[in-house]
Amino acid sequence: MSRILTGIQSSGSPHLGNVLGAILPAIELSKQNESFLFIADLHALTTVKNKNILKENTLATAAAWLAFDLDTTKNTLYRQSDIPQVTELMWYLNCITPYPMLANAHSFKDKSNRLSDVNAGLFTYPVLMAADIILYNADIVPVGKDQLQHLEITRDIATRFNFLFGDTFVIPNAKTDQNNMIIPGTDGQKMSKSYDNYINIFESEKILKKQIMNIVTDSKSLNEPKDPDKCNVFQIYKLIGTQNQIQDLEKKYQNGGFGYGHAKKELLDLIMQKFEKPRSNFYKLMKDPLIIEKELLKGSKRAQFVADTVLKKVKDKLGLS
Ligand code: ATP
Ligand code: MG
Repeated sequence: MSRILTGIQSSGSPHLGNVLGAILPAIELSKQNESFLFIADLHALTTVKNKNILKENTLATAAAWLAFDLDTTKNTLYRQSDIPQVTELMWYLNCITPYPMLANAHSFKDKSNRLSDVNAGLFTYPVLMAADIILYNADIVPVGKDQLQHLEITRDIATRFNFLFGDTFVIPNAKTDQNNMIIPGTDGQKMSKSYDNYINIFESEKILKKQIMNIVTDSKSLNEPKDPDKCNVFQIYKLIGTQNQIQDLEKKYQNGGFGYGHAKKELLDLIMQKFEKPRSNFYKLMKDPLIIEKELLKGSKRAQFVADTVLKKVKDKLGLS
């Protein structure tokens, strides 16, 4: 049995990319393994500067895990900030992380090009992520393709620590699903909370419809035959539909007389039908946040125990205890 670990930032509400890229594969793996799943609220501080929004996002992210029936009797669901050992470990790791490795990270380059607030937290983001993973002796980290470079950084840092101070950390492996898919957003780029191009399956039908109607398409008229492979709507539909549903929609595109508005409506119907149960679970949980808080408290106790043991070993090796 391996230890699986993965996190989602509470930088917004969890979207379809998070669900397909992280939540569902991690829950699947957690059935045969032991999982540590967390809400990365410390990472979210790099972009969120409003207390109420952060709290709301944290609850919604936890609710999303629970809405997909994560079994918390055998897996550990916790809030990153409940385990302050992680920031302590991050400092130790900072001191052995080569500066150019962080300066060359794609995600930092991308965020520093796009955001007006380029803070040091964005720069050291991958070191906190490394601490998140190796503090819990995780073997396998299910992540979307967008996070593969961060995983490489984690492996480099852990290997370097083991080399300098003796065998201490488990070297984790990344696991990507959906044939290494990056789920596209409404504009065709990677779906992301910070790009405002997401489809949030937990939103009301009205907002969900608006998000889906925003998917960018070309300007082919209703009657023209269309190439499904060049359409963002179809790319997203393909990720969640059954084989038959996908083939049916493909034919409609190719036959013509079927507009992008129709395709979007089919996508909306599919999402409503496919995620009916998790959507209803999510609403129930968000109405009663105490249930979520109780789950997080239970998880943080378990996480704390592992974190204490590993951190003690680390301090010993560093000459700090
Ligand atoms: P932000 O824009 O704030 O970075 P995000 O939308 O990228 O947010 P994260 O919290 O960074 O979401 O990612 C959480 C998990 O979801 C990670 O495992 C990541 O790989 C996965 N994930 C995020 N977006 C996608 C996507 N578009 N396709 C596949 N997986 C994704
Ligand atoms: Mg991200």
